Amino acid sequence: MSSLVPAFIIEKKRDGIELNAEEIKSFIQGITSGAIPDYQATAFLMAVYFKGMTLNETVAFTRAMLESGDRFDLSSVPGVKIDKHSTGGVGDKVSLILAPLAVACGLKVPMMAGRGLGHSGGTIDKLEAIPGFNTALSTDEFINVLKTVGTAIIGQTTRIAPADKKLYALRDVTATVPCVPLIVGSILSKKLAEGTEGLILDVKVGNGAFMQNKGQARILAKTLVQVAKKLGLNCRAVLSQMDQPLGCAVGNTLEVLESIAILKNEWPFDNACTDLRELTIHLCAQMLEMGRIVKKHADGRKLAIQKLQDGSAWNVFKEMIAAQGGDVRTIEDPSLLPLSKNIVEWKATKKGYIKSIDTKGIGELLIEMGGGRKVAGEKINFGTGMIFYKKVGSPVAPKDVMVKAYLPEGISSAEADAFHKRFMQSLQFSATRHGAPKLILDAGVK
Ligand code: URA
Repeated sequence: MSSLVPAFIIEKKRDGIELNAEEIKSFIQGITSGAIPDYQATAFLMAVYFKGMTLNETVAFTRAMLESGDRFDLSSVPGVKIDKHSTGGVGDKVSLILAPLAVACGLKVPMMAGRGLGHSGGTIDKLEAIPGFNTALSTDEFINVLKTVGTAIIGQTTRIAPADKKLYALRDVTATVPCVPLIVGSILSKKLAEGTEGLILDVKVGNGAFMQNKGQARILAKTLVQVAKKLGLNCRAVLSQMDQPLGCAVGNTLEVLESIAILKNEWPFDNACTDLRELTIHLCAQMLEMGRIVKKHADGRKLAIQKLQDGSAWNVFKEMIAAQGGDVRTIEDPSLLPLSKNIVEWKATKKGYIKSIDTKGIGELLIEMGGGRKVAGEKINFGTGMIFYKKVGSPVAPKDVMVKAYLPEGISSAEADAFHKRFMQSLQFSATRHGAPKLILDAGVK
């Protein structure tokens, strides 16, 4: 039986029957036009969450989301256009560093990014911590910034994959985020619409990712690559670890500060944390290889390190901020960025090693602090967050500062204590040495 009535399509999916392309297209068109109300859209999302989608359904779903809006024509932008996207994590500010770095190495990076989703942070929210920064450029402005700077980072406009814009906001608040076909459709519809020629996907694995184990993450990575290829996009995926926040900062302004430090070759917050820089260099080398700027990964690494060290990536970042309306004084003098003054130190109470960090719990703690959304459209407090001085495997002794927390201003001491308690509950300690988790779990799923 085939019917384009929304309730029948939901019923069919609920019963695990494969939908055809026409049904999927009609449902997505209904979401885009507003003919299908949110309650039917979320029922559909939950049915997909439980029953999944076949590869054919996922391709049709992605295509329908792409066709729900416009597609950029970047043919007037000279150069090789390669983008990167992460499936979402905590403390993942790679895009802020990687986009200007890849440009400094010779690529063009058209980037359409997302806001926070579930417990994970979003590139657009982080960039909006910079006063004036405009993530809603028109098509002409986007193309112009790409031509002059080499990269532009924008959020979804109502004209680009509008179906994803609606579904993304609904998934964020209806527990339907960690679902392979929904993630694939969401990411690839935007990436196909933005007009990139190639895409590197950073598929996160671990207790702070939507895919908690390597098997699930590999399925997501393979599906992303397969669907991208079927829709004509050159794509590769890397599996990287998300069993602890990436880098040392979690929270919008703090993550901008950490990105600035890496771009300026400084140690962020006098911290010895290296994973963020390492992952950024790895992904940059993958992009350079894909874009044929270099022949070998090792050459890509060398070039990326050189462009970080000689300040070229930092210069491109400043140009991008200025071209998108951001106040460059605030990144040259980061004390001008919005940051809470209610700072407390959370210290260790006993000797041992950090065995694990509940990374999703840390993402949720940031949301509680106002640094993310509990309901769609909510305003964010950019200035709250945490700086981690100890991560998994770090030895700790009593009174060692594990985290500097930037709490919301004006809260009571009982509320501050509750945040501290939640943070302590997210940690596990062991008396014996515990190694740090491996950062890159698979360097190339094709
Ligand atoms: N990023 C997206 O754009 N969509 C998802 O569903 C997950 C990560």
